[in-house]
Amino acid sequence: MTKYIGAHVSASGGVGNAILNAEAIGANAFALFTRNQRSWVSKPLPQLEIDGFKALLADRGFRPEMVLPHDSYLINLGSPDEETLQKSRAAFFDEMYRAQQLGLTMLNFHPGSHLNRISEEECLDQIAREINLALSKAEGVTAVIENTAGQGTNLGWRFEHIARIIEGVDDKSRVGVCIDTCHTLAAGYDLTTEMGYQFTMDEFERIVGFKYLRAMHLNDSKKGTGSHVDRHEVLGEGAMGKEFFSRLMHDPRFDDMPIILETPDPMRWADEIKWLRSL
Ligand SMILES: [Zn+2]
Ligand SMILES: [Zn+2]
Repeated sequence: MTKYIGAHVSASGGVGNAILNAEAIGANAFALFTRNQRSWVSKPLPQLEIDGFKALLADRGFRPEMVLPHDSYLINLGSPDEETLQKSRAAFFDEMYRAQQLGLTMLNFHPGSHLNRISEEECLDQIAREINLALSKAEGVTAVIENTAGQGTNLGWRFEHIARIIEGVDDKSRVGVCIDTCHTLAAGYDLTTEMGYQFTMDEFERIVGFKYLRAMHLNDSKKGTGSHVDRHEVLGEGAMGKEFFSRLMHDPRFDDMPIILETPDPMRWADEIKWLRSL
């Protein structure tokens, strides 16, 4: 088996519960929040919870590299506001540290927003500086930049944005990319046709490089190409078209990395994963 597929499962009641929730849907990869994603501060992970997570992960046969923690939605490493930046920096350090404590190798995050107060370039360069700071605080964890739909002033929707951030990171071995398929489509990269798929992947290779690809968020999209609207849809029921999922499942460039569903109905994840495996 070369494709590692799962979903962003609930860690409610403790991070170990995410493992059980992933197992219940037939996943061999998963994503989770390791702290309250809507709050600036969280209590440290108790050592007992950390030990329990590591033991259960091994016991249920999950590889730590196939677990992709997602950072808090509040964090904006590109913020032009000094107070927000300070809070974002502290929270991001904590997210990186939690991933390290749990024996995980990556942290998935949204690059940031310029809020129309600084230029795109200034914002992207600031994000790179913040990644450099964070990497010096945590060992063994790669900062994984997620491409965005380009809603509002969010950056990271053009592959050029991601390339510029990577350019500014000193340790290139600890920066990576997560392609969210819904965001990619919404950002204006057509994935609905064979030609569009090939063109988008060629662009990614040319501008960013598949060597930086560490993970994927596999979502269908309620809205069409270039909508800049971030609305995920059940696989095969949105604008992406069923063919897309077949192409992706046969594309070896997405082997051996977590492929995470963030589709809207958790009750359907098990069936969506089964369907992907049947393609
Ligand atoms: Zn995300
Ligand atoms: Zn995503």
